[in-house]
Amino acid sequence: MDGTVKEKIMDYLAGKLTCKEVTEAVTEYLEGTFTFWERVRFQMHLGMCVGCRNYLRQIKQTIRTLGKLPTEPIPPDVREELLRRFRNWKKG
Ligand SMILES: [Zn+2]
Repeated sequence: MDGTVKEKIMDYLAGKLTCKEVTEAVTEYLEGTFTFWERVRFQMHLGMCVGCRNYLRQIKQTIRTLGKLPTEPIPPDVREELLRRFRNWKKG
């Protein structure tokens, strides 16, 4: 597969998910309720997005600490920060 086509497919798949969707779906991801392709898209987004990787790490840390998924999925300030980073990333 040539590089350009591969990039387009990457863009297509990754472009289907926004940071907002990723942060909202992170508990489902961790609970393993995603389909295969949902997982692929999710992981592709994580691969490109430092903000969402950090968010996922924080959630995992929270789970280790509390022993369960947080009841409040995303504090508004965290969501804002992610969206801000995402906009910057899009510009770059
Ligand atoms: Zn993201």
